[in-house]
Amino acid sequence: MPTLDRLGRPLANLRLSVTDRCNLRCSYCMPEEEYAWLPRADILSFEELARLVEVFQGIGVEKVRLTGGEPLLRRDLHVLVGLLARRGLADLALTTNGILLGEQARALKAAGLARLTVSLDTLRPECFQLLTRRDEHARVLAGLEAAHAAGFRGTKLNTVVLRGVNDDELVPLLEFGRERGLEVRFIEYMDVGGATGWRGEEVVSRAEMLARIEGSLGAVRTAPGDPSAPAERYELPDGTRFGIIASTTEPFCRSCDRSRLTADGIFYTCLYAPNGTDLRGPLRAGATNDELAARILGLWRERRDRGAEERLGLTERGTLAPASTLRTDPHLEMHTRGG
Ligand code: SAM
Ligand code: SF4
Ligand code: SF4
Repeated sequence: MPTLDRLGRPLANLRLSVTDRCNLRCSYCMPEEEYAWLPRADILSFEELARLVEVFQGIGVEKVRLTGGEPLLRRDLHVLVGLLARRGLADLALTTNGILLGEQARALKAAGLARLTVSLDTLRPECFQLLTRRDEHARVLAGLEAAHAAGFRGTKLNTVVLRGVNDDELVPLLEFGRERGLEVRFIEYMDVGGATGWRGEEVVSRAEMLARIEGSLGAVRTAPGDPSAPAERYELPDGTRFGIIASTTEPFCRSCDRSRLTADGIFYTCLYAPNGTDLRGPLRAGATNDELAARILGLWRERRDRGAEERLGLTERGTLAPASTLRTDPHLEMHTRGG
């Protein structure tokens, strides 16, 4: 029997952040140049991460996604992938900005990574530079090719849509994806921790994205998808599929089965949760798997989080936290918590 929270949602998904570091500075996630980083001694080793995944798997988690920060900055990540792949999870995936895929795709595939999601917001190098403050567009494109050459199929592209920045690229991105067998998932700009420049006017809603796509490419049909997945899936007249994650205007908290673990072992039951629970302390103090499982289950059973839905109800909606607050607690940051 799955463990259900207070709203009847199972614990089925774990997003494992393996590092808070990143080699980009996306304006919607890490707008500052320098940050308060997690202390090195607190970062869990691969063995510790694998042990916690074992505990989560024992209480119902079947899908694990490695994320960050930029997960490929974690040295020898393929070794962790190998440890987790052996656990026979239903799904083992990775979200990356793609810069280091050229160097790592083959090792990740060989280690047993099942699926990749690569973030790509624009096809224009100058727009990429503006959005990420790094001149790395060509390496991301090369990374996508390397992933294909390494045997990855069904790779998804994540695109955060910002008004006036890349919202004129919906159709070119869909065409780019269609030519390469990549399913694009457009993401509404969210006011998560880290998005200190968030303004409602910059959000392009799902309804507007669909209207624009239909205006250029014809009627869009709803395509079948996993009801607990954040993306609503669609199909174009030529059969091309894509997704939209409407986390800002039409949040999907009611079916959210995701939990999060930071690289230093703090467990969160929601992307917006103000506080998490330390699992590193008990783990390093010698807690057994049963003790760790009991702690996690106790938290999940009490879970009532509906972070994005609650934000939707606010009349005066601005950024989640000012930069000064984020500096005192990096755990509120998207790049620490894992997207
Ligand atoms: N660095 C990796 C990457 O960019 O793919 C993994 C971590 S990143 C935090 C995970 C995902 O969160 C990315 O696809 C990113 O575009 C998305 N993201 C970050 N900040 C966001 C925001 N404010 N609104 C919507 N999506 C966001
Ligand atoms: Fe961009 Fe991902 Fe890095 Fe955030 S963690 S700045 S979304 S590449
Ligand atoms: Fe899940 Fe929280 Fe996101 Fe809602 S806001 S979908 S509860 S992580």
